[in-house]
Amino acid sequence: MSNKKSKKRKDRGKEEKEEKEEEICWIEGRNLVFKRRHFNKFFTCGLCEGYLREAHTIRECLHSFCKSCILKYLQTKKTCPTCSVDLGVHPQRLLKFDRALQQLQDKVYPEAKKEDERREAEFFKERGEPNPHEEEERPKKKLKTSQDGEETNEGDEKEKEKEQEKAKELADKERKEQEKKSVSFQCLPYKEEGKGKEKGKGKDTSLPALAKNFINTSADVSIKHVKKFINSQLKGEGLKDGDIEILYQGATMGAEHTLEYIIRTYGIVYKRNEPLTFHYRKIVYE
Ligand SMILES: [Zn+2]
Ligand SMILES: [Zn+2]
Repeated sequence: MSNKKSKKRKDRGKEEKEEKEEEICWIEGRNLVFKRRHFNKFFTCGLCEGYLREAHTIRECLHSFCKSCILKYLQTKKTCPTCSVDLGVHPQRLLKFDRALQQLQDKVYPEAKKEDERREAEFFKERGEPNPHEEEERPKKKLKTSQDGEETNEGDEKEKEKEQEKAKELADKERKEQEKKSVSFQCLPYKEEGKGKEKGKGKDTSLPALAKNFINTSADVSIKHVKKFINSQLKGEGLKDGDIEILYQGATMGAEHTLEYIIRTYGIVYKRNEPLTFHYRKIVYE
């Protein structure tokens, strides 16, 4: 057992080394090709090390985990597993389902999500253990069979077909709505004009340009996710997401503001081929 563990650790060390030696991105024709592997850290649950499932974010520190992982963890502990910040007497109340982060992740890793689920199901099946990520779905199914128990098989079959049709319709509708609600934005480093206030005090708030500065995403995405997106590419700066300030037309955007909210508030006539332009800079503490 301990042999296996140390081997795993060694492999991981090797991977990291290889990663450092190869390029993060390169240009192929007119496309900038980006290694998604370098985003992994930001879309990985710190507890199960898999891709986030039903991503839940702690309001206090903005660290994200799978719903089932963090709920289980908080049954016995009252701190963030990543940064150990104290979450008080009712840590569950500080959890928030992070729909936008989940959507962003599913967008960046559509096939990885499926693969991850398949592998996980296999893992638990091999061990004959229940899959914790499937637990929430199981009671629903049980309820249905007990309700339909007295009906004939034929009725069951029809009921099933109807349900499948309904589910398909709903999924189609959701997809269409999502398409309507998709927004693209680009992020550019903020350039201080002349001797700005911050410059006068000798603070350097500038940050480098991003290798991938454009993304098409859901209008539900909020500024904190934009920060995450930017920070995931500024590894060398050693910043926390909260150390980055996002500006739209020179005004600071609040972390909880969604793209939809900003479009509405600024009366932006959003055009599909004209992305919103955000600027970003470092917040320098005195
Ligand atoms: Zn997890
Ligand atoms: Zn934390």
